[in-house]
Amino acid sequence: MRHQTGANDLEGTVTADTAPDLLHLPPLSAPHFALIEDKVAALLRTEETVIATQGEALLPLEACIRSAVRPGSTALNVVTGPYGETFGGWLRSCGAEVVTVDAPFSGAVSAERIADALRAHPAIDFVSLVHAEAATGNTNPVAEIGAVVREHGALLMLDAVASVAAEPLLTDEWGVDLCVIGAQKAMGGPAGVSAVSVSARAWERIAANERAPRRSYLSLLDWKERWIDAGRTVLPHAPAQLEMLALEQALDHIGELGLESVITRHRAARDAVRAGVRALDSALAPYVVRDQDAAPVATTLRTPDGLDARELVRAALAADGSVPLQAAGGALAKEMIRVNHYGPAAARDVVLASVAALAEGLRALGHAEHPAEALSAAETAWDATLMG
Ligand SMILES: *Cc1c(COP(=O)(O)O)cnc(C)c1O
Repeated sequence: MRHQTGANDLEGTVTADTAPDLLHLPPLSAPHFALIEDKVAALLRTEETVIATQGEALLPLEACIRSAVRPGSTALNVVTGPYGETFGGWLRSCGAEVVTVDAPFSGAVSAERIADALRAHPAIDFVSLVHAEAATGNTNPVAEIGAVVREHGALLMLDAVASVAAEPLLTDEWGVDLCVIGAQKAMGGPAGVSAVSVSARAWERIAANERAPRRSYLSLLDWKERWIDAGRTVLPHAPAQLEMLALEQALDHIGELGLESVITRHRAARDAVRAGVRALDSALAPYVVRDQDAAPVATTLRTPDGLDARELVRAALAADGSVPLQAAGGALAKEMIRVNHYGPAAARDVVLASVAALAEGLRALGHAEHPAEALSAAETAWDATLMG
């Protein structure tokens, strides 16, 4: 039945006529839930256990920290963006002594700095690290960092929400003990569904932690005892079908396209935006200095003194309101622009339109620009990355 609104305000949205029927889904069965977890494990290249979690990624991230960390723990928290700061608060509230290593948002943290911190603080038994940062556009060398952490013997928790499906993520090979993903960035899925892989080493530590949450939404141990150790035959609760089915569709879609090609599109988007911006005049520069530190999920741009990032975003969106541009949040709002290019936005036309909108916005604010050169540089970079 069509609702009579008498206005055009439903134009372009799903109406009662076209909406899929969301109310008569059968309950998700245990084998189906287990299959979705297995598909996540394949994507993460892990043979360890995976738990699909209904809730945003902060849920499994907090669950990992509260399960593995206790009073007396020493944690190394690597801060390369806003999420690391959140982890620091959780670690302290678990009673851990926290050693912080931070890197400017214009770069990445090196494995050498992690090795130095581990040498200086031999008691470190837990390391929290964000792989790629959607908010600040940088990405960290997890393979090298993982090797250093493994040699030291600490557990490694990785926030891979913004890297999964945008760049390689080799959970087991890199020695990641707790790997957290969300569906809503490069996977092109919905927000509100996430997953975590837990290594055997991590389960040992968690099982030995008398402070690990039990009978709690944050409890990994409950999942282990009631679901995994019980052979994944009886679900401990009724899973949210909508979220789990959408997660499965996102996983299947990546499978159909091929993970390699999804990753390549995200890299091409990053390379095209960086090349396009460099071909504009000097009013704008990639915020992340070195190409190898730039995340394929989003490109951050730095505006010079006197050019407010929010003003430029407004002008660019006035030229083309469809492009995924935003000013950064918080303290960086004046100087950082974020070009999102994940999921369906990791596409040639979206990326070129973003560069064109930035050029138009700059022109509207009185900067002499070369939009044609910027577009052609972006196109060339996109094609070069796609050709490999
Ligand atoms: C987006 C993002 C998150 C948050 O995911 P939610 O599902 O919104 O909780 C966490 N970490 C990183 C690195 C992200 O980019």
